[in-house]
Amino acid sequence: MSRFFSSKYAGLTPYTPGEQPQEREYTKLNTNESPFPPSPIAQRLARQAAGNLQLYSDPECRKLVPIAAETFGVKPEQILFSNGSDEMLNYAYMAFCDADTPAVFPEISYGFYPVFAEVNNVPYRTIPLNDDFSINPEDYYGAGGTVIIANPNAPTGIALSASQIEGILKANPDNVVIIDEAYVDFGCESCIGLIDEYPNLLVVQTCSKSRSLAGGRLGFALGNEALIRDLNTIKYSTNPYNINTMTMWAGIGAFTDKAYFDWCCAKIIENRAYTKQALEGLGFTCTDSKSNFLFVKHPGIDGEKLYLQCKEKGVLIRHFTIPKIKDYNRITVGTREQTDILIRTIREIMEEAK
Ligand code: PMP
Repeated sequence: MSRFFSSKYAGLTPYTPGEQPQEREYTKLNTNESPFPPSPIAQRLARQAAGNLQLYSDPECRKLVPIAAETFGVKPEQILFSNGSDEMLNYAYMAFCDADTPAVFPEISYGFYPVFAEVNNVPYRTIPLNDDFSINPEDYYGAGGTVIIANPNAPTGIALSASQIEGILKANPDNVVIIDEAYVDFGCESCIGLIDEYPNLLVVQTCSKSRSLAGGRLGFALGNEALIRDLNTIKYSTNPYNINTMTMWAGIGAFTDKAYFDWCCAKIIENRAYTKQALEGLGFTCTDSKSNFLFVKHPGIDGEKLYLQCKEKGVLIRHFTIPKIKDYNRITVGTREQTDILIRTIREIMEEAK
């Protein structure tokens, strides 16, 4: 820390992103990216847009918003884009949390949630999961703050139904409830259909997973017009040109190419079942994941050891040191070929341990 660093950030522990190694080719199953490239239409439009980068991007994303609004059956005024959904989540903390309105989220969830609270200097409260890692919706009734729930949750992959979330919305009429649907397209029910009925609902989604644009950085929020206006106030007070032109066009391609999106989601759901079955065959237990990753543990293999040995053999998976989940690993669902490499590698590790 330099002597110039503001004392307000002195105690800040930043978020640790999953490894993005450059030095070696890995079978990369650690950061929940899509194993498939962006839609060919998205690639072509982004390439074409490169020729216009001398100009500022459109702060209103006027070419993208109507296509996305139509995709989700909402009004253009009910949607806002951001530089990845991380940026949108930060906007939401800035807009909807303060000293009297803490952030309230599950104890085991996306590791960025407490960091957003700390960087914005707002208090937060965590709520334990059930023993089986599921969320008990009633724990969030009358939460007394802004609720943030990833649905499906990360890193467990376990989902709540839209009606369970509706219960949380009804029981918190004076607070915003943020549903982070980063992984919703892999078999979980979205809450977007509830935004007209619940003025306190903000749904946050991303193009990083199901639309293969993690490197493009495109997230978005859907909610009633007043909430979106608040988020715009934050956006225009921090970074109006937050969506670069190539990314906006890549997004237009991704939303336009619905057939490709459907194919990618179906393939990942299919391979999730294949991967889960193969891991269970090796003695792993897996949660009932509705996302593009599996959360797994083996009674005979230490979680961290498995992660390290897989890495040594060229397969990256994600291990968390949090005591309650230290026996687990989170494994992204990739292609079938990637799964076969994963299973071969784990089998080898198990053989060597005998
Ligand atoms: N929410 C959850 C639950 C996530 O796992 C992630 C990805 N790390 C994000 C939000 C942020 O994704 P992005 O900024 O790429 O949209």
